[in-house]
Parts: sequence; C-alpha cells; structure tokens
Amino acid sequence: MSTLAHPDRFSFLHIDLNSFFASVEQQLHPEYRGKPLAVVPTVADTTVCIAASYEAKAFGVKTGTQVGEAKKLCPGIILIEGSHTEYAKYSHAITEAVDLACPVSHNPSIDEMVCQLMGREQEPSRARKIALEIKQSIYKNVGVALRCSIGMAPNRYLAKIASDMQKPDGLIGLLPSQLPRAIAHLELRDLPGVGARTEARLNSKGITTMEQLLALDRNGMRSLFDSVWGDRMYHWLRGAQTEDATGHNVSQAEVQKSLGHSHVLAPEHRSPEGSWAVAHKLLHKAAMRLRMEHFYTGSLAVTIRYQLTREQAETQATRGKVKRHYSGIKNSGWGMEARFRDCQDTLTLLEVLRSLWSQRPQGPEYQKPFFVGITMRNLIPEDEHQAELFADPNNRADLSATMDKLNLKYGHTTLHFAGMLPARESAPTRIAFTQIPVQYGVDYM
Ligand SMILES: [Mg+2]
Repeated sequence: MSTLAHPDRFSFLHIDLNSFFASVEQQLHPEYRGKPLAVVPTVADTTVCIAASYEAKAFGVKTGTQVGEAKKLCPGIILIEGSHTEYAKYSHAITEAVDLACPVSHNPSIDEMVCQLMGREQEPSRARKIALEIKQSIYKNVGVALRCSIGMAPNRYLAKIASDMQKPDGLIGLLPSQLPRAIAHLELRDLPGVGARTEARLNSKGITTMEQLLALDRNGMRSLFDSVWGDRMYHWLRGAQTEDATGHNVSQAEVQKSLGHSHVLAPEHRSPEGSWAVAHKLLHKAAMRLRMEHFYTGSLAVTIRYQLTREQAETQATRGKVKRHYSGIKNSGWGMEARFRDCQDTLTLLEVLRSLWSQRPQGPEYQKPFFVGITMRNLIPEDEHQAELFADPNNRADLSATMDKLNLKYGHTTLHFAGMLPARESAPTRIAFTQIPVQYGVDYM
C-alpha cells in the first residue's frame, strides 16, 4: 500500500463534546453558566471530580482532582452530583442534532460521535462546512451551553487526535499532505491507545517524543510495538485508511467505497431482541444515506460483539479468542458478509440483513450482544449502476424514495419497516447472494 499519494480529503469527522457532564449541568441550570463547576459522584471531600467546567479548569481543577483539593484550588466551586440518566438523554439528543447535519456512523462513547463522509463531502471545504453545521445544530437544537471540538481527517484514528487538538469549540483538519508533520508537536500520550503503561514501555525503548516515533519506518514501528498494531499506527499517522467506519480492516480503495454504521448498545438493549432492533435501525439509516448520496451497494456485512462473563472469558482466553473492546468489555465477535446484485432499496437490504442475522452463533457466550455494526461495501455510483432488465416488481425503489421524503421531513427515524416485518417473516428471500465470514479490526479507542 502506498502512503504517499493520498488525496487531500477528509473521510471522517470526530466530534468530542467539551466538558460534557459539566456543560449539561450548565445547560440545565443557566445560573451556573460562566461559573466554575465540578460534577462529583457524591458530595464528599474524599471523592474525585468526574468532570470540570472550563471555568473550573482555569483554576487547575480537572477530571480526577480530589474534591478537597478542588475546593482549595477554586474556593466557591459549585459541586453537583452527576446524573447519568440526564447525560445519556443529552447524548442521545446531540446524536440526533448531529444526524441532521450528517448521519452519525458510530458513538465511541457518551460524549463522542463519528461521522463518515462520502463523495464530495470529503472535499476539505465541504467537510468544514458540515462540521460548522454540526456545531450550529447542537447549539440550536440541544442547547447553547454545549460546545464541541471536531477533528477532520482521512482516518478515524487521526480524526480522534484532531478533535483533541483544540478546545473548547475547536475545529482542526489533518490533511494527508501535511502529515505526519502536523502532529509532530504532540506528546506520545496524545495518541489514542497510548496510556501510561505503553508510554513507559516506549520510553524504555528510547522513544520519548513524537518526533522520534515519527522518524521510525514500518519495521521500526512493528518491532517497537511488537505487533501488527505498530504497522497500522505507522499508516494511520500518515493519513492512510486501513479500516472502515465500523472497524473492519480493508484496503485504502475499499474505504472510499464503503459506508458503515455501528452502535454500542445501551445496557437495556443487550439482548437478542434489542440488538436486532438496533441493527434494523442502523440498516434503515445506512440505506437512506446510500440513496441520499446516490450509490448502490453489492455487499452488506454485519458485525456483532458479545459480552462475556468472567468464566467464559477465561475459557475462551485459553483458545486465544478473546478481544477487549475500548470500553474494557471482554468479548467475542462474529461477523458475516453477503454479496449480491447491487441495489439501494431498504426492503432488499433488510432481507439480506435478516438472512445474515439468522446465522449468528447461538451458544451461551453469544447471549449478550453489546455492539452491532453494519457495513455496505462495493459502493457503486448511481450512474454506473446497470439497470435491471425487468422492472422492480414491488416498486421497492418508489417505496424507499417515499420513506426518505417522510423521514427527511419528520425526522430521521420516523418511518421504519417494523410494521411490515411480521408479514414478511414467511416470505421467501427473492434475491440470491453468497455469504462469507468477516474479519473485524482492532479497537484503539
Ligand atoms: Mg469530551
């Protein structure tokens, strides 16, 4: 893979809410706006702050500061017991507000969203406009106290780094032509996936600065990290794309031609029924986006990750099968891809999804799905699509177009096929496709 000739395009936006919990409190309580404030688990001097407002940060209070210490640093600091329910509600509302400007592909955490850009959206000036619209939409639809920093980059790894480079209310783009020098001034710890332990290990091998890290070639990176992770990082830091929006490892060319949506399930949805409902919704969203951007797809892949109990994780570890999600959840994963004649209507794609879904594994270690992702690969521009010889017998294309109009008018998830599903249970699948197991990528966030 060449890392030199990447065009100057942004494939991903990473949105990171600034001082999220503290900002939600300032949104809920206008009297706290502009004041130093910290969110705490319980009001006691011995606990630590779980979030601090920008006004409190100016006094040196940050996440992890002991409450007693925070009071010394900033006498008069407002302490508030956090409400996770309230933050989850806001996170949801923010995702919907972002969706209005650009559909969210992935929520890596409660205060982060990732959008995959498609086609001309990837041009830097358009990407920038979308980023500004996202900020406006959050401001207008959710609240004036909520600010975010947005990173624009050719891959997810760099987009996350960029979102961290300017706070609050930042907007930073990392263009392939400016890489890696645009990140040479950062600290090693600014790299996602490099925590205290990894940093110590790098230091012990003589790497203490980003400049030293960036001076290494591929082999140097591989032996430094002692794994394929070093190789990946080498490419990511130079603007290469080696994974799509749902974390599948694919070639550079394939990333440009794929569209993915994924979701970490809320605890109440970690059941077979809950995960199906989410997969169904993701498919609906992706299919609508496919049509909005004028593409057809010839491939649909689904990925599910299952949370393991401690005993299951121990048994599986002996077989070398356990992965660790960025959330720390020990899990096993499953994935499958179907290839078929290119289409863009929701009903056909839904049939494929149902068929894939019915083949997911059933054992005891596959009962608690916590992550669902779907990816469409082999995207084909509408004007290159070969029309079928016989007209679409069920007017599936018309039906999809009508749904899109209604959803655009009344909100993204207004119209689903949920009501039609039971009636379709017994209907035979009318399209032919092949299914192949899917490789899914590593987690770094
Ligand atoms: Mg944040």
